[in-house]
Amino acid sequence: PAVIVAIDGPSGTGKSSTSKAVAAQLGLSYLDTGAQYRAITWWMVTNGIDTDDPHAVAAAAGKPEIVSGTDPADPTITVDGVDVAGPIRTQEVTSKVSAVSAVPEIRARITELQRSIAAAAPLGIVVEGRDIGTTVLPDADLKIFLTASAEARAARRSGELKGADVHATREALIKRDAADSTRKTSPLAKAGDAVEVDTTALTLAQVIECVVTLVEE
Ligand code: C5P
Repeated sequence: PAVIVAIDGPSGTGKSSTSKAVAAQLGLSYLDTGAQYRAITWWMVTNGIDTDDPHAVAAAAGKPEIVSGTDPADPTITVDGVDVAGPIRTQEVTSKVSAVSAVPEIRARITELQRSIAAAAPLGIVVEGRDIGTTVLPDADLKIFLTASAEARAARRSGELKGADVHATREALIKRDAADSTRKTSPLAKAGDAVEVDTTALTLAQVIECVVTLVEE
């Protein structure tokens, strides 16, 4: 039977790097659910939808077609056939994604997409996000909740963003996590049966090994 691994946690804990590597090592598919929320946010911004207006966002929720490629060596994301892998990482999209993701109609649409992608993965899949273990795939075979200190998370993000101000990055990260944790529909949360891994003092290789061992147990 296909194996389903859910990896949740706040930003900067190494979710994407860990999830991709675990999927590649175990021959599983991979899904970055944050990229899907970023993609639909990118579409809203590009089409002039006011992302602070939940009614406008809800009304447009069904319009863009989001397609995710699930090869961990080459995860792709398109909106209406357009490759948006680059544009979904801009500061503008990052600052607006929490508001868009909080709209129930957006979550319903993206959650359904995520479940169908997971069900179609031949050998199984590693799915990373905020609400995978609690809401999207509550029957996952293994649930991991990654954490790290705010300092470690901001430092990792600033490293990725090359030259970004650590203080500003830390503030933006804390704000986004607070918004993601307090929204009413499927907030960022640790499932009761998730294994919590604090990555603050671990290398990426150690985190990957830890998760691979848990999958194989
Ligand atoms: O993982 P990443 O930082 O790319 O996610 C971007 C945003 O997408 C998060 O800050 C959150 O607002 C939203 N998200 C979500 N549920 C998920 C994954 C991401 O609401 N499962």
